Amino acid sequence: MTAPDFPEQIHLTIHPDLAAMARSLTADTPEARIRAVTAWAKWNVDQGEGPFAAGIFNLANGACVSAGVNRVVSSSCSLAHAEVMAIMLAQQALQCFSLAEKGQYVLTTSAEPCAMCFGAIPWSGVCEVEYAATREDVEAIGFDEGPKSKTWEADLRARGIRVAGPIGREEAAEVLRAYARRGGIVYNGDAGA
Ligand SMILES: [Zn+2]
Repeated sequence: MTAPDFPEQIHLTIHPDLAAMARSLTADTPEARIRAVTAWAKWNVDQGEGPFAAGIFNLANGACVSAGVNRVVSSSCSLAHAEVMAIMLAQQALQCFSLAEKGQYVLTTSAEPCAMCFGAIPWSGVCEVEYAATREDVEAIGFDEGPKSKTWEADLRARGIRVAGPIGREEAAEVLRAYARRGGIVYNGDAGA
């Protein structure tokens, strides 16, 4: 796609193969959901993309509503983090701007949310966040988690959003380390400085 002289829209996608993996998935335990997003993160690394994945699941029946993976490099978009992709796709699927309008939804993510994704969570309408790898695991391979409060979990709980994690940390951290070993791009906002 040729870039326009002046932008009029943004086009963000996940690969049809990822959608096919996630579409009929039901995962009604935190461990099962974490296993799924960790597998998607590994799949995304194999596609040459960032080592992060997330999903939105309906807590009433475990149905996967959306899958998000990091698309920063391929989309030329620093906002295209897995959690933001999953939230936007779920809201498109359910045709709402707050998932709370539609029921009880959990954001499951292969790594603790960064400052931006943390900021997106209260507006998403999810009632719960569960994560696998920790900030320490993410920063150990050079990614910047941004200026997020150390009390981020308590901050979300104070807004009525449950937080659970780390769950399945070692498997998710190994996906991060595998990405580092293969020389994956660490795309922080500092222009590589
Ligand atoms: Zn993020």
